[in-house]
Amino acid sequence: MSKIVMKFGGTSVADIARIRNVAKLVKREVDRGHQVAVVVSAMAGETNKLVAWTRELSPLHDAREYDAVVATGEQVTAGLLAVALSAIGVTARSWQGWQIPIRTSARYCSARIVEIEAAFLNERLAQGQVAVVAGFQGIAPDNRISTLGRGGSDTSAVALAAALKADRCDIYTDVDGVYTTDPRIVSRARRLHKIAYEEMMELASLGAKVLQTRSVEMAMAHRVPVRVLSTFDADNGGTLLCDEDDIVEKNPVTGIAYTRDEAKITLLKVPDQPGVAASIFGPLEDAGVNVDMIVQNISEDGRRTDLTFTVGRAELDRALDAIRKAAPQIGYKDLISDKGVAKVSIIGIGMRAHPGVAQTMFKTLAEKGINIQVISTSEIKVSVLIAEDYVELAVRALHSAYDLDAA
Ligand code: ASP
Ligand code: MG
Repeated sequence: MSKIVMKFGGTSVADIARIRNVAKLVKREVDRGHQVAVVVSAMAGETNKLVAWTRELSPLHDAREYDAVVATGEQVTAGLLAVALSAIGVTARSWQGWQIPIRTSARYCSARIVEIEAAFLNERLAQGQVAVVAGFQGIAPDNRISTLGRGGSDTSAVALAAALKADRCDIYTDVDGVYTTDPRIVSRARRLHKIAYEEMMELASLGAKVLQTRSVEMAMAHRVPVRVLSTFDADNGGTLLCDEDDIVEKNPVTGIAYTRDEAKITLLKVPDQPGVAASIFGPLEDAGVNVDMIVQNISEDGRRTDLTFTVGRAELDRALDAIRKAAPQIGYKDLISDKGVAKVSIIGIGMRAHPGVAQTMFKTLAEKGINIQVISTSEIKVSVLIAEDYVELAVRALHSAYDLDAA
Protein backbone atom coordinates (compact mmCIF):
# COMPACT_ATOMS: atom_id res chain seq x y z
CA MET A 1 0.00 0.00 0.00
CA SER A 2 1.31 3.41 -0.93
CA LYS A 3 0.34 6.91 -0.09
CA ILE A 4 -0.11 9.05 -3.17
CA VAL A 5 -1.04 12.61 -4.02
CA MET A 6 -2.93 13.09 -7.30
CA LYS A 7 -3.21 16.60 -8.72
CA PHE A 8 -5.65 17.58 -11.46
CA GLY A 9 -5.29 20.78 -13.47
CA GLY A 10 -8.00 23.06 -14.80
CA THR A 11 -8.68 21.27 -18.09
CA SER A 12 -8.97 17.96 -16.21
CA VAL A 13 -11.88 19.34 -14.17
CA ALA A 14 -13.27 21.69 -16.81
CA ASP A 15 -16.86 20.37 -16.65
CA ILE A 16 -19.05 17.86 -14.84
CA ALA A 17 -18.25 14.99 -17.20
CA ARG A 18 -14.55 15.54 -16.65
CA ILE A 19 -14.96 15.71 -12.89
CA ARG A 20 -16.70 12.31 -13.12
CA ASN A 21 -13.75 11.04 -15.12
CA VAL A 22 -11.33 12.31 -12.46
CA ALA A 23 -13.40 10.58 -9.78
CA LYS A 24 -12.94 7.30 -11.68
CA LEU A 25 -9.18 7.78 -11.83
CA VAL A 26 -9.11 8.42 -8.09
CA LYS A 27 -11.29 5.36 -7.42
CA ARG A 28 -8.86 3.23 -9.39
CA GLU A 29 -6.05 4.13 -7.04
CA VAL A 30 -8.25 3.60 -3.98
CA ASP A 31 -9.26 0.18 -5.31
CA ARG A 32 -5.58 -0.68 -5.63
CA GLY A 33 -5.38 -0.20 -1.88
CA HIS A 34 -3.59 3.16 -1.84
CA GLN A 35 -4.19 6.07 0.50
CA VAL A 36 -5.06 9.02 -1.70
CA ALA A 37 -5.02 12.79 -1.26
CA VAL A 38 -6.19 14.79 -4.28
CA VAL A 39 -5.33 18.39 -5.08
CA VAL A 40 -7.49 20.24 -7.59
CA SER A 41 -7.26 23.42 -9.65
CA ALA A 42 -10.20 25.61 -10.53
CA MET A 43 -12.22 24.63 -13.61
CA ALA A 44 -10.44 25.83 -16.78
CA GLY A 45 -10.96 29.55 -17.34
CA GLU A 46 -12.47 30.21 -13.90
CA THR A 47 -9.41 31.82 -12.34
CA ASN A 48 -8.96 34.08 -15.37
CA LYS A 49 -12.57 35.15 -15.04
CA LEU A 50 -12.20 35.93 -11.34
CA VAL A 51 -8.98 37.87 -11.94
CA ALA A 52 -10.64 39.87 -14.73
CA TRP A 53 -13.61 40.80 -12.53
CA THR A 54 -11.30 42.01 -9.78
CA ARG A 55 -9.23 44.09 -12.17
CA GLU A 56 -12.31 45.51 -13.83
CA LEU A 57 -13.55 46.84 -10.53
CA SER A 58 -10.21 48.34 -9.62
CA PRO A 59 -6.83 47.94 -11.31
CA LEU A 60 -5.23 48.83 -7.99
CA HIS A 61 -7.27 46.37 -5.95
CA ASP A 62 -6.21 45.22 -2.49
CA ALA A 63 -4.17 42.01 -2.70
CA ARG A 64 -6.06 40.43 0.21
CA GLU A 65 -9.39 40.86 -1.55
CA TYR A 66 -7.93 39.57 -4.82
CA ASP A 67 -7.01 36.40 -2.94
CA ALA A 68 -10.45 36.19 -1.32
CA VAL A 69 -11.97 36.23 -4.81
CA VAL A 70 -9.60 34.05 -6.83
CA ALA A 71 -9.30 31.31 -4.19
CA THR A 72 -12.96 30.44 -4.70
CA GLY A 73 -12.39 28.60 -7.97
CA GLU A 74 -10.62 25.76 -6.21
CA GLN A 75 -13.23 25.60 -3.46
CA VAL A 76 -15.85 24.76 -6.08
CA THR A 77 -13.90 21.94 -7.71
CA ALA A 78 -12.83 20.42 -4.38
CA GLY A 79 -16.44 20.23 -3.26
CA LEU A 80 -17.69 18.91 -6.59
CA LEU A 81 -15.04 16.20 -6.75
CA ALA A 82 -15.88 15.04 -3.22
CA VAL A 83 -19.51 14.79 -4.31
CA ALA A 84 -18.55 12.88 -7.47
CA LEU A 85 -16.43 10.46 -5.43
CA SER A 86 -19.19 9.79 -2.92
CA ALA A 87 -21.59 9.18 -5.80
CA ILE A 88 -19.46 6.25 -6.95
CA GLY A 89 -19.02 4.83 -3.49
CA VAL A 90 -15.68 6.37 -2.50
CA THR A 91 -15.54 7.95 0.96
CA ALA A 92 -14.23 11.47 0.46
CA ARG A 93 -14.14 14.88 2.09
CA SER A 94 -13.11 18.25 0.66
CA TRP A 95 -10.74 20.61 2.47
CA GLN A 96 -9.82 24.20 1.92
CA GLY A 97 -6.37 25.55 2.70
CA TRP A 98 -7.33 27.12 6.03
CA GLN A 99 -9.02 23.97 7.29
CA ILE A 100 -5.91 21.78 7.12
CA PRO A 101 -4.23 24.30 7.65
CA ILE A 102 -1.78 25.09 4.87
CA ARG A 103 0.14 27.98 6.40
CA THR A 104 1.68 30.53 4.06
CA SER A 105 3.68 33.73 4.17
CA ALA A 106 1.86 37.06 4.22
CA ARG A 107 2.74 37.84 0.63
CA TYR A 108 -0.76 37.91 -0.79
CA CYS A 109 -1.18 36.92 -4.46
CA SER A 110 2.13 35.05 -4.44
CA ALA A 111 2.41 33.58 -0.98
CA ARG A 112 4.85 30.80 -0.12
CA ILE A 113 3.85 27.69 1.77
CA VAL A 114 5.50 27.73 5.17
CA GLU A 115 3.99 24.67 6.81
CA ILE A 116 1.33 22.04 6.29
CA GLU A 117 0.01 20.26 9.35
CA ALA A 118 -0.13 16.70 8.16
CA ALA A 119 -1.30 14.85 11.28
CA PHE A 120 -4.95 15.51 10.81
CA LEU A 121 -5.04 14.59 7.11
CA ASN A 122 -2.95 11.50 7.79
CA GLU A 123 -5.56 10.37 10.29
CA ARG A 124 -8.29 10.73 7.70
CA LEU A 125 -6.28 8.92 5.06
CA ALA A 126 -5.60 6.07 7.48
CA GLN A 127 -9.36 5.74 7.97
CA GLY A 128 -9.66 5.15 4.24
CA GLN A 129 -11.08 8.56 3.44
CA VAL A 130 -9.93 10.38 0.32
CA ALA A 131 -8.93 13.97 1.08
CA VAL A 132 -9.77 16.40 -1.72
CA VAL A 133 -7.73 19.54 -1.13
CA ALA A 134 -8.29 22.90 -2.81
CA GLY A 135 -5.03 23.81 -4.53
CA PHE A 136 -3.52 27.29 -4.95
CA GLN A 137 -4.57 28.52 -1.51
CA GLY A 138 -3.58 28.65 2.12
CA ILE A 139 -3.92 30.81 5.18
CA ALA A 140 -1.64 33.75 5.96
CA PRO A 141 -0.40 34.68 9.47
CA ASP A 142 -3.23 37.18 9.92
CA ASN A 143 -5.83 34.46 9.31
CA ARG A 144 -6.84 35.55 5.85
CA ILE A 145 -6.98 33.37 2.74
CA SER A 146 -3.87 33.65 0.60
CA THR A 147 -3.03 32.33 -2.88
CA LEU A 148 0.25 31.03 -4.25
CA GLY A 149 0.56 32.77 -7.62
CA ARG A 150 -0.77 31.58 -10.97
CA GLY A 151 -0.26 27.89 -11.54
CA GLY A 152 0.17 27.48 -7.77
CA SER A 153 -1.81 24.29 -7.33
CA ASP A 154 1.19 22.34 -8.65
CA THR A 155 3.05 23.70 -5.65
CA SER A 156 0.17 22.83 -3.32
CA ALA A 157 0.33 19.24 -4.56
CA VAL A 158 4.08 18.82 -4.19
CA ALA A 159 4.07 20.51 -0.78
CA LEU A 160 1.29 18.23 0.38
CA ALA A 161 3.16 15.19 -0.91
CA ALA A 162 6.24 16.31 1.02
CA ALA A 163 4.26 16.96 4.21
CA LEU A 164 2.42 13.63 4.02
CA LYS A 165 5.65 11.85 3.09
CA ALA A 166 3.78 10.45 0.12
CA ASP A 167 5.40 7.82 -2.05
CA ARG A 168 4.52 9.74 -5.20
CA CYS A 169 2.98 12.91 -6.51
CA ASP A 170 1.14 12.44 -9.80
CA ILE A 171 0.39 15.64 -11.69
CA TYR A 172 -2.42 14.97 -14.14
CA THR A 173 -2.68 17.53 -16.91
CA ASP A 174 -3.69 17.96 -20.56
CA VAL A 175 -0.36 16.80 -22.00
CA ASP A 176 1.11 13.35 -21.52
CA GLY A 177 4.44 14.49 -20.11
CA VAL A 178 7.37 16.82 -20.47
CA TYR A 179 8.69 17.23 -24.01
CA THR A 180 12.07 18.13 -25.45
CA THR A 181 10.40 21.37 -26.53
CA ASP A 182 6.95 22.78 -27.22
CA PRO A 183 5.25 20.23 -29.56
CA ARG A 184 3.10 23.02 -30.98
CA ILE A 185 6.21 24.51 -32.55
CA VAL A 186 8.22 21.38 -33.24
CA SER A 187 6.10 18.45 -34.36
CA ARG A 188 9.04 16.09 -33.85
CA ALA A 189 9.43 16.99 -30.19
CA ARG A 190 9.83 13.89 -28.05
CA ARG A 191 8.39 13.07 -24.67
CA LEU A 192 11.04 12.57 -21.99
CA HIS A 193 10.67 9.47 -19.82
CA LYS A 194 12.78 11.03 -17.10
CA ILE A 195 14.10 14.48 -16.38
CA ALA A 196 16.35 15.68 -13.56
CA TYR A 197 14.81 18.11 -11.07
CA GLU A 198 17.42 20.72 -11.94
CA GLU A 199 16.70 20.50 -15.65
CA MET A 200 12.98 20.73 -15.05
CA MET A 201 13.50 23.76 -12.86
CA GLU A 202 15.39 25.53 -15.63
CA LEU A 203 12.85 24.45 -18.26
CA ALA A 204 9.95 25.73 -16.17
CA SER A 205 11.58 29.03 -15.28
CA LEU A 206 12.74 29.61 -18.85
CA GLY A 207 9.31 29.26 -20.38
CA ALA A 208 7.98 25.68 -20.41
CA LYS A 209 4.49 25.98 -18.99
CA VAL A 210 3.95 22.42 -17.82
CA LEU A 211 4.75 22.94 -14.10
CA GLN A 212 5.00 25.95 -11.84
CA THR A 213 8.72 26.56 -11.18
CA ARG A 214 8.25 26.69 -7.45
CA SER A 215 6.66 23.24 -7.42
CA VAL A 216 9.81 21.81 -9.02
CA GLU A 217 12.00 23.65 -6.54
CA MET A 218 10.01 22.10 -3.75
CA ALA A 219 10.07 18.63 -5.28
CA MET A 220 13.84 18.87 -5.54
CA ALA A 221 14.30 20.14 -2.00
CA HIS A 222 12.19 17.35 -0.52
CA ARG A 223 13.09 14.69 -3.09
CA VAL A 224 9.45 14.08 -3.96
CA PRO A 225 9.09 11.71 -6.92
CA VAL A 226 6.82 13.61 -9.29
CA ARG A 227 5.17 12.16 -12.37
CA VAL A 228 3.57 14.32 -15.06
CA LEU A 229 0.87 12.48 -16.99
CA SER A 230 -2.29 13.02 -18.99
CA THR A 231 -5.75 12.81 -17.45
CA PHE A 232 -7.13 11.81 -20.79
CA ASP A 233 -4.67 8.99 -21.42
CA ALA A 234 -3.64 8.04 -17.92
CA ASP A 235 -2.11 4.68 -18.81
CA ASN A 236 0.17 6.08 -21.43
CA GLY A 237 3.40 7.88 -21.15
CA GLY A 238 4.25 10.25 -18.38
CA THR A 239 7.51 11.85 -17.37
CA LEU A 240 9.24 11.19 -14.07
CA LEU A 241 11.11 13.99 -12.30
CA CYS A 242 14.03 12.42 -10.55
CA ASP A 243 17.46 12.83 -9.12
CA GLU A 244 20.28 13.51 -11.51
CA ASP A 245 21.98 10.29 -10.39
CA ASP A 246 19.00 8.27 -11.61
CA ILE A 247 19.62 9.41 -15.17
CA VAL A 248 22.13 7.14 -16.84
CA GLU A 249 22.66 8.91 -20.11
CA LYS A 250 23.17 12.59 -19.48
CA ASN A 251 22.55 14.47 -22.72
CA PRO A 252 24.36 17.75 -23.31
CA VAL A 253 20.95 19.20 -24.17
CA THR A 254 17.76 17.67 -22.78
CA GLY A 255 15.28 20.38 -23.69
CA ILE A 256 14.76 23.74 -25.37
CA ALA A 257 12.58 26.42 -23.83
CA TYR A 258 11.53 29.81 -25.05
CA THR A 259 9.64 32.80 -23.76
CA ARG A 260 8.24 35.78 -25.58
CA ASP A 261 7.61 37.47 -22.29
CA GLU A 262 10.70 39.67 -22.60
CA ALA A 263 11.65 43.27 -23.19
CA LYS A 264 15.06 44.82 -23.73
CA ILE A 265 16.27 48.14 -22.37
CA THR A 266 19.46 49.88 -23.48
CA LEU A 267 21.06 52.89 -21.81
CA LEU A 268 23.36 54.71 -24.20
CA LYS A 269 26.52 56.41 -23.06
CA VAL A 270 26.45 55.87 -19.34
CA PRO A 271 29.58 56.92 -17.45
CA ASP A 272 32.08 54.04 -17.33
CA GLN A 273 32.95 54.35 -13.66
CA PRO A 274 32.47 52.52 -10.36
CA GLY A 275 28.92 52.61 -9.01
CA VAL A 276 27.08 53.00 -12.27
CA ALA A 277 25.52 49.52 -12.24
CA ALA A 278 24.31 50.12 -8.71
CA SER A 279 22.79 53.45 -9.73
CA ILE A 280 20.76 51.67 -12.43
CA PHE A 281 19.78 48.39 -10.80
CA GLY A 282 19.13 49.85 -7.35
CA PRO A 283 16.13 51.92 -8.46
CA LEU A 284 14.83 48.95 -10.50
CA GLU A 285 14.97 46.73 -7.48
CA ASP A 286 13.19 49.35 -5.41
CA ALA A 287 10.46 49.42 -8.05
CA GLY A 288 10.08 45.65 -7.76
CA VAL A 289 11.37 45.00 -11.28
CA ASN A 290 13.21 41.74 -11.90
CA VAL A 291 16.21 42.17 -14.16
CA ASP A 292 17.21 39.08 -16.07
CA MET A 293 20.04 39.25 -18.63
CA ILE A 294 22.66 42.03 -18.55
CA VAL A 295 25.46 43.07 -20.92
CA GLN A 296 27.78 46.01 -20.66
CA ASN A 297 29.95 46.99 -23.58
CA ILE A 298 33.48 48.16 -23.19
CA SER A 299 33.86 51.84 -23.85
CA GLU A 300 35.94 53.07 -26.73
CA ASP A 301 37.31 56.09 -24.94
CA GLY A 302 37.24 54.68 -21.39
CA ARG A 303 34.65 57.24 -20.37
CA ARG A 304 31.19 56.22 -21.58
CA THR A 305 29.62 52.88 -22.42
CA ASP A 306 26.28 51.27 -23.39
CA LEU A 307 24.44 48.96 -21.04
CA THR A 308 21.68 46.54 -22.08
CA PHE A 309 19.44 44.38 -19.91
CA THR A 310 16.12 42.55 -20.07
CA VAL A 311 13.00 42.63 -17.92
CA GLY A 312 9.60 40.93 -18.15
CA ARG A 313 7.48 42.54 -20.86
CA ALA A 314 4.74 43.27 -18.35
CA GLU A 315 7.24 45.19 -16.21
CA LEU A 316 8.67 47.33 -19.00
CA ASP A 317 6.71 50.49 -18.25
CA ARG A 318 7.53 50.31 -14.57
CA ALA A 319 11.20 49.77 -15.39
CA LEU A 320 11.39 52.74 -17.79
CA ASP A 321 9.68 54.92 -15.26
CA ALA A 322 12.20 53.96 -12.56
CA ILE A 323 15.15 54.61 -14.89
CA ARG A 324 13.86 58.01 -16.00
CA LYS A 325 13.35 59.06 -12.40
CA ALA A 326 16.92 58.05 -11.59
CA ALA A 327 18.33 59.73 -14.72
CA PRO A 328 20.17 62.51 -12.86
CA GLN A 329 22.09 59.98 -10.71
CA ILE A 330 22.81 57.61 -13.60
CA GLY A 331 23.70 60.19 -16.22
CA TYR A 332 22.96 58.36 -19.48
CA LYS A 333 22.53 60.02 -22.85
CA ASP A 334 19.65 58.02 -24.30
CA LEU A 335 17.19 55.30 -23.29
CA ILE A 336 15.90 52.76 -25.82
CA SER A 337 13.49 49.88 -25.29
CA ASP A 338 12.35 46.99 -27.45
CA LYS A 339 9.40 44.67 -26.87
CA GLY A 340 10.01 42.56 -29.94
CA VAL A 341 12.48 40.19 -28.35
CA ALA A 342 12.34 36.63 -27.07
CA LYS A 343 14.61 34.35 -25.11
CA VAL A 344 15.56 30.89 -26.32
CA SER A 345 17.36 28.53 -23.95
CA ILE A 346 19.03 25.15 -24.19
CA ILE A 347 19.10 23.09 -21.01
CA GLY A 348 20.93 19.89 -20.03
CA ILE A 349 22.88 18.51 -17.09
CA GLY A 350 25.28 16.84 -19.53
CA MET A 351 26.47 20.32 -20.53
CA ARG A 352 28.81 20.28 -17.55
CA ALA A 353 30.83 17.48 -19.11
CA HIS A 354 30.52 18.34 -22.80
CA PRO A 355 32.51 21.30 -24.10
CA GLY A 356 31.31 23.07 -27.23
CA VAL A 357 27.60 22.93 -26.49
CA ALA A 358 27.19 26.69 -26.60
CA GLN A 359 29.21 26.93 -29.78
CA THR A 360 26.77 24.58 -31.55
CA MET A 361 23.98 26.93 -30.53
CA PHE A 362 25.76 30.03 -31.83
CA LYS A 363 26.71 28.33 -35.10
CA THR A 364 23.21 27.00 -35.70
CA LEU A 365 21.65 30.41 -35.19
CA ALA A 366 24.27 32.06 -37.39
CA GLU A 367 23.51 29.63 -40.20
CA LYS A 368 19.89 30.73 -40.05
CA GLY A 369 20.91 34.38 -40.10
CA ILE A 370 19.57 34.96 -36.59
CA ASN A 371 21.36 37.67 -34.64
CA ILE A 372 22.09 37.09 -30.96
CA GLN A 373 21.52 40.24 -28.91
CA VAL A 374 22.37 39.07 -25.40
CA ILE A 375 23.76 35.82 -23.99
CA SER A 376 23.57 34.42 -20.49
CA THR A 377 24.76 31.08 -19.19
CA SER A 378 24.76 28.90 -16.13
CA GLU A 379 26.23 25.48 -15.53
CA ILE A 380 23.36 23.69 -17.22
CA LYS A 381 21.84 26.24 -19.59
CA VAL A 382 22.61 28.78 -22.28
CA SER A 383 20.07 31.49 -23.06
CA VAL A 384 20.09 33.91 -25.96
CA LEU A 385 17.96 36.92 -26.66
CA ILE A 386 16.84 37.21 -30.29
CA ALA A 387 14.21 39.04 -32.33
CA GLU A 388 10.80 37.59 -31.51
CA ASP A 389 10.02 36.91 -35.16
CA TYR A 390 12.70 34.22 -35.26
CA VAL A 391 11.69 32.21 -32.20
CA GLU A 392 10.09 29.32 -34.04
CA LEU A 393 12.86 29.06 -36.59
CA ALA A 394 15.48 29.13 -33.83
CA VAL A 395 13.78 26.47 -31.70
CA ARG A 396 13.32 24.13 -34.68
CA ALA A 397 16.89 24.54 -35.87
CA LEU A 398 18.31 23.94 -32.38
CA HIS A 399 16.08 20.93 -31.84
CA SER A 400 17.63 19.30 -34.92
CA ALA A 401 21.14 20.50 -34.16
CA TYR A 402 21.12 18.74 -30.79
CA ASP A 403 19.63 15.54 -32.22
CA LEU A 404 16.42 15.88 -30.29
CA ASP A 405 14.07 15.23 -33.23
CA ALA A 406 11.98 12.09 -32.96
CA ALA A 407 12.87 9.45 -35.52
N1 ASP B 1 -6.34 28.10 -10.67
C1 ASP B 1 -5.07 28.71 -10.49
C2 ASP B 1 -4.58 29.30 -11.79
O1 ASP B 1 -5.26 29.23 -12.80
C3 ASP B 1 -4.08 27.79 -9.90
C4 ASP B 1 -3.73 26.61 -10.75
O2 ASP B 1 -4.50 26.20 -11.61
O3 ASP B 1 -2.67 26.03 -10.55
O4 ASP B 1 -3.53 29.88 -11.83
MG1 MG C 1 -1.21 24.54 -14.19
